[in-house]
Formats: sequence, C-alpha cells, structure tokens
Amino acid sequence: MYPKLVIDKQKLQENTANIAKTCKDHGINIMSVTKSFCAIPEVADAIVKGGTDMLADSRVQNLKKLSVFNVPRVLLRLPMAHEVEEVVKYADISFNSELSTIKALNEAAKAQGKKHSIVLMFDLGDLREGILPEQMPTHVEEILSLENIVLYGVGVNLTCYGGVIPDENNLGELAAIADRIRNEYKVDLKMVTGGNSSSYYLLGEKRMPKGITNLRPGELLVLGRETAYGNIVEGLHTDVFTLNAQIIELKTKDSLPKGNIGMDAFGNKPVFTDKGKMVRAIVGIGRQDVNPSGLTPYDDKIEIIGASSDHMIIDITHSGQEYKVGDILTFNVDYGALLQLTTSEYVEKEAK
Ligand SMILES: *Cc1c(COP(=O)(O)O)cnc(C)c1O
Repeated sequence: MYPKLVIDKQKLQENTANIAKTCKDHGINIMSVTKSFCAIPEVADAIVKGGTDMLADSRVQNLKKLSVFNVPRVLLRLPMAHEVEEVVKYADISFNSELSTIKALNEAAKAQGKKHSIVLMFDLGDLREGILPEQMPTHVEEILSLENIVLYGVGVNLTCYGGVIPDENNLGELAAIADRIRNEYKVDLKMVTGGNSSSYYLLGEKRMPKGITNLRPGELLVLGRETAYGNIVEGLHTDVFTLNAQIIELKTKDSLPKGNIGMDAFGNKPVFTDKGKMVRAIVGIGRQDVNPSGLTPYDDKIEIIGASSDHMIIDITHSGQEYKVGDILTFNVDYGALLQLTTSEYVEKEAK
C-alpha cells in the first residue's frame, strides 16, 4: 500500500550502537527518544538491540507500547495532572518541574505500592520547561519529604523553544547544581541529563562539562543529524526512514494556471512563474499526511512544486528517468515530516 514509510531497522540499530559507543567513551549513557516515530515497538526493537540504556518518550500511550522491552522507560514531557496514575504505572522515571504534580505522583505511587523516580528539570535559558536555579532549595526539600518519590536526577532541555545552544556555561551550571544537591542534601543523584541531539557536538569537540552522565538523542538517532548546527554526523545513516509515494497522473501541462487567480486550498493566494510547458506528476499524498517542504526527492532532478490536502505535484521535466503512472517516487524526510508521516493513519509503515 502507498504512501509507505519504509524503516530500515539495521541502519537504526547501527546508528544507536554508534551513538551509544561515542557517549560511553565519555562516561555518558543514553535514553533514546522514540516520539518521532510514535514508538512503533518493531522500530524501538532496533534501538534496544543497538544497545540503548533507556527508552524515552513524551507520551504515556507510547511508553505503554514500549512495556515489552526490558529497559527502563522515561516520560519526557511533564505529566498532566489527570494522568499521574498511568505515569506511575508505565514510566520508571518522569521529568518534572511542578511540586503539585510531584505530590500527586507521590500519592499515586503510594496507592500502587511503588516508588516513582523523578528527574527535576531546570530552565537554564531556553524558556521551555524547568524550575529556575534559585528555586532549587525549596523544591528539593519538599521532594525529599515525599516518601514514595525518589529524586533520581536533574536535567535540562535546550534548543527546543528558545534555540539556545548547549555549552560549558549552561551544562556546567547543571553539573554544579547536581553537585550542590549531592553535597547539601546528601542525595545520591544518579542522573544528570544534559540535553537532546543538540548537545552531541560537545563530545566531538571534547567540550562536554564533567558531571553530565546522560544524553537524550532523538533526531540524531533517527536522521543522523545533530541539532545545534544542523550538521550530518559522520558515520551515521541519514536514510533510516524513506517515503514512497505512487504516481497517479503524469501529463505535460502549462506551468501557469489559466483564469483569474483566487485562493488555494489553504486560503493563500498562490504566485507562479511561467516556465513554459512542464511534465507534471501527481503522487497520492498530501498535506493531511505531510508538509511537502519536509520532503526531498531522491531523484535530484525533480522538484516538488506544491500540494493540496491529498495531492502532491512534482515537476519531473528535467529528470533523466522515464516515469509512468503507477511508478513509485522516493523521498528523504526531515524531522517534521517524520512526525507527521508516522502519525498519519493513511501512511503505511513497513519496518524491514
Ligand atoms: C523531544 C525531546 C528530546 C529529543 O530531542 P531531539 O532534538 O530529537 O534529540 C529530548 N528531551 C526532551 C525533554 C524532549 O522533549
């Protein structure tokens, strides 16, 4: 069935093994982030085989799917008040920044006869989640008074909202906060988690501050790209995921629409340049499945020129290949495209 997202498990396993080894050489373990592919268990299996230390996702539903694996599971997004029971049930560790939620987790853990581990998140400039460093003492004291909560570690998230790049200053500050907690409260903090795919470049430059014990690769793992500067990382596969879509119409037409131009399907007034006659292919995929700007055709002589909700139009005038109706076009995907494609129920997923 098409459109189809093809997932190469061998390449994903090799990416995981490569990243895990690089991190281990620096005394760092990894929690691999599965949200970009909706935590499809068959795909996560490749990551477990590649040697990840933990699996992590933003959604409890996804962690539930990952219950079949024998590695610790981590909830990355701060729990919603309504889901604390599920969090305690399906996550070994959750990221937190709100005392009211942590108290609710404590009650849920008590009710289930369990201890629940948390990572206390710090906002060190990116302005997404986390407490401010000066709030540390009040929060730690309160957390330590909760019988069924274990303060497992501290963490920071960067380069997500504010675009702040991880460096010696912000990650050094996190490591210093961890040391203060260990010294002042005699807590055995097991984890200092220093960011996502944007922190990886610090290893290559030998600039990772001492005391960071964990990283959380997502995009790096699935697309082979670090996200501080957007560079492809040598030795990693960038084609773990590829999209196949089928040609449903192929005709030579004008490049300029004929008639008075009003609005397109999304309320925008389109502008066109006259390139004369064009060989145009339509493939059976659209904006309901993916934003076309996140796709790159493997055939570098063809160009996506637009898409409505269910049709994507491609200029194949300059391709050397003889395409025909029924042929399959292949595309590389970026992070946004991957999120959408794995979420769309209209896109077949084939892991092989
Ligand atoms: C999504 C997410 C990650 C993974 O981010 P990438 O940029 O894909 O590596 C790591 N940590 C948290 C808290 C996240 O929400």
